[in-house]
Amino acid sequence: MPLRPAAASGRPAGRRSGLVPPPAGTCVGRPRIGWRRTWGERSPPVILHPLRLGTVRGEGLPITAVLIRHPSGKNVLVDTGAPIEFAGDPEAPFEVGPDEHVLARLDQLGLSADDVHHVIATHLDPDHAGALDRFPNAEIVVQRRELEAARTSGALRYEWQRAHWDSEALHYRAVDGGTTLLDGVELVDSSGHSAGHQSVLVRLPRTGPVLIAGDAIPTAEVCDPAARPSSGHDHDVEAARQSTRELMRLVAEQGIARILHSHDAEQWRDLRASYD
Ligand SMILES: [Zn+2]
Repeated sequence: MPLRPAAASGRPAGRRSGLVPPPAGTCVGRPRIGWRRTWGERSPPVILHPLRLGTVRGEGLPITAVLIRHPSGKNVLVDTGAPIEFAGDPEAPFEVGPDEHVLARLDQLGLSADDVHHVIATHLDPDHAGALDRFPNAEIVVQRRELEAARTSGALRYEWQRAHWDSEALHYRAVDGGTTLLDGVELVDSSGHSAGHQSVLVRLPRTGPVLIAGDAIPTAEVCDPAARPSSGHDHDVEAARQSTRELMRLVAEQGIARILHSHDAEQWRDLRASYD
C-alpha cells in the first residue's frame, strides 16, 4: 500500500538532519556517469523502462512498475500494479486506464506476458502484486518472509486480493535477503514496509547504478530515515526506517545515479520512457 507523502508532516526532507534537501524528484544530487563501465562496447545494453500503471484514487499518487530488458535476452518486470479488473472501474480504489494496466504497457513495448521471464515482486500489496496472476509462465521472485507472511498472517493487505497472487498456476522462487538475479540485477532486502520487502539495484551502462526502491522509499520526500513518516501501512515502522537508512548508505557507497520511487508524482513527471 502506498505511503502518504511526507508533505503531510509539513517538514521538508532533510531539514531535521541538517542535510540540504535534494532536488525535487530525486534523493541524489548529481547523476554519476558510468559510461559502459559494466558492459563492453559491443554488448547490448541493459535498458530500463519505468511504467505507470495507474493512480491511487483521491491521492494522485502514481502506481508504478519497471521493465528491465537484459542483454541475456531476458525481460524482468519489477511489480505488476493493480488487478487488471480495476481498469476502467470508477469504483475501484486505484484508477487504471484502459491503456495503463500492465499488459497494455507491455504491449506498447511490443511484449506480451509470455515474454517476461522473471517478475520481481517488491512485496505482495495489491498495488504491486495485483496482476501477478497474469504471469503464469514467469518465475516470480519474492522474499521468503514476504511470501510466508502473505500466506499465513491473515493480514487484510494480503487477503484483499489474494486470488491475484496466491494461485497454484504461479511459479514462485522464494529468496532470502540480498540475491543476484542476473548480471547487473541485484535484489536488496528492504523489509519494514512489509514483512519481506525487497528493492532492486540495476547497473546501467550509461546512466550508472539505479535503485528501484519500491515502497521502501516510495517518494523522494522520505529519503531521510529520521524524518520518514509512518503512513499506517508500514508493517514495522522502525524496520522501515532502518531499511531506508541502509538503502541511503547503499546510494552513497555505490554512487547510485537515480532512485526510482514507487509513488512519487513529482518524479514521474520528469522520468524518461527509458534509461540505458
Ligand atoms: Zn505501494
